[in-house]
Amino acid sequence: MIKVTDLQKRFNDLVVLDGISFEVGRGQVVAIIGPSGSGKSTLLRCLNLLEKPDGGLIEIGDATLDAQQYTRKEAHLLRQQTAMVFQNYNLFKNKTALQNVTESLLVTKKMTASEAETIGRSLLEQVGLAPKADNYPITLSGGEQQRVGIARALAVDPHAILLDEPTSALDPERVSEVLRVIKSIAEKQTTMVIVTHEIAFAREVADYVIFMADGKIVEEGPPHALIDQPQNPRTKQFLQQIG
Ligand code: ADP
Ligand code: MG
Repeated sequence: MIKVTDLQKRFNDLVVLDGISFEVGRGQVVAIIGPSGSGKSTLLRCLNLLEKPDGGLIEIGDATLDAQQYTRKEAHLLRQQTAMVFQNYNLFKNKTALQNVTESLLVTKKMTASEAETIGRSLLEQVGLAPKADNYPITLSGGEQQRVGIARALAVDPHAILLDEPTSALDPERVSEVLRVIKSIAEKQTTMVIVTHEIAFAREVADYVIFMADGKIVEEGPPHALIDQPQNPRTKQFLQQIG
């Protein structure tokens, strides 16, 4: 479903992604962990071209893109394969919860208003927000806003969902409601790449965990190996610090 080969990204002189390669199978959940500044967000942002990668090959769903040379059509196709859930939700403030979810259905998928509304309401139901469909983001808690963000990502029925620290802006008491929703989506065989500091959650939900530091994959493996029996000293140190 996702195959990334030798992905390279630098900001001026700073090498941020230094030859990243990994694969995510259909329906798999891959968690990416690592210290701040290690390139995790940049990696996700390169997968949908929010950042322009300098080199490497990205294959997602129906799209293949050679970072060094690609057409606008290839870029467009690659962007259509994924949907992103952001740390700060990035909702449209002047749209209701329902309108946030239906926007892409109306604009990109050209559905009628009633088709989009039916799907939008069912997605809000899935994230436990049916009663708040007509609320504006400002009247929702952070956890509720993020659940709208997740419903919005699901709306385009992407090949994979990319989540960048989806709970790190939330008050502690709001984290679990969002993790529960993410887990329920994972259980529906949704392909996901999730950057997270929630190690217990990664252990429970991820099929595979990648530990990144300084733009490289330092260690990777199934959660029971990587999280419970890390081999690399940097992985050990990181897990001790955060856990
Ligand atoms: P992480 O998500 O793991 O904390 P990031 O991918 O956000 O790491 O950042 C990796 C490195 O790239 C950091 O040193 C950061 O300062 C730098 N960086 C990120 N975005 C930019 C940018 N747009 N311009 C310059 N440097 C950037
Ligand atoms: Mg980040």
